[in-house]
Amino acid sequence: MPELPEVEVTRRGLVPQLAGRKISGVSVREPRLRWPVPRDVLALAGRTVSGIRRRGKYLLVDCGDGHLILHLGMSGSLRVLPPGTPAGKHDHFDLLLGDRLLRLRDPRRFGAVLWAEGDVAAHPLLAHLGVEPLSAALNAKHLHALTRSHRIAIKHFLMDGKRIVGVGNIYASESLFRAGISPRKAAKKLSLQQCSRLAKAIKTTLQAAIRAGGSTLRDFVGADGGAGYAQQRHYVYDRAGKNCRRCRTPIRKLTQGQRSTYFCPSCQK
Ligand SMILES: [Zn+2]
Repeated sequence: MPELPEVEVTRRGLVPQLAGRKISGVSVREPRLRWPVPRDVLALAGRTVSGIRRRGKYLLVDCGDGHLILHLGMSGSLRVLPPGTPAGKHDHFDLLLGDRLLRLRDPRRFGAVLWAEGDVAAHPLLAHLGVEPLSAALNAKHLHALTRSHRIAIKHFLMDGKRIVGVGNIYASESLFRAGISPRKAAKKLSLQQCSRLAKAIKTTLQAAIRAGGSTLRDFVGADGGAGYAQQRHYVYDRAGKNCRRCRTPIRKLTQGQRSTYFCPSCQK
C-alpha cells in the first residue's frame, strides 16, 4: 500500500511534469473507484494546473478555484506517459496535458478521483485529518498535548490518522526505535523530552524513506510509478529474531491492535 513517503515522492515527481500546464482532455474509463468518479472532472479541460500539494496521503491537484483530489488507495500508481500510450486493463483515469498524459492505474480500485470547489481543506475527507508529521506543527509541545488524555499504547496512538497523518505501521515501529521508546508505553506517560525525541524521530524516519524513494525519481516518467521502498534498511521492522543494529539484542515482535510491532527490548524503554 502506498504510504506517505511514496505519495510525497510521487508528488515531487509530478510537480515539474504538470505544474503550469493546461489540461487538454480527461478520460474516465472506470468510474467505480472507492467512490464514484464525479462527472465534474470531465469539465476539467481548459483549466491550468497551478500546483500539486499533499495532505496526508491525498494529492491535491490545484486547478484555479477547484482541486482534483487523488488517492492511490491500496494499489494505485500515477505515471506520466506520452499521449496515445495504450491503456491497460487497470488504467482507469487519464488527464491529458498537451504533450503528456497523467495516468492512474489501480488494480484493486480502492483509489479515489474526486473534485472539490473552493476550500479543499474543508472537504469531508480532509477536514478531520491529523497534523502533518513533516510540518513544524508536529513538535514536542504539540505531541505532548495530543497524548495527554490517551492511555492507549504509543504505537497505536501514532497510527491514528485523526491525530497525526501518515505514520503507518512500518514508520511507527521505526520512529519509536529511533526515539528509544517502548511501543507498549501508554501515550499519556510520555515525558516532554520523549515527545521531543519522538517528533524528531518521526520526521527523520519519513524523510529517510522519501530520500530512498527519491532515488527512483529520475525514472519517474514512463516508469511504472512504483517507488523503491523494498530496498529500505529498517532498524526493527520485519526483523524479529535478528540482532538490533545498535546493541545486538534480538529484535522482538508483538501484536498490537492486530498489527505486528517490532522493537528492541534493550534500546526501547
Ligand atoms: Zn537495541
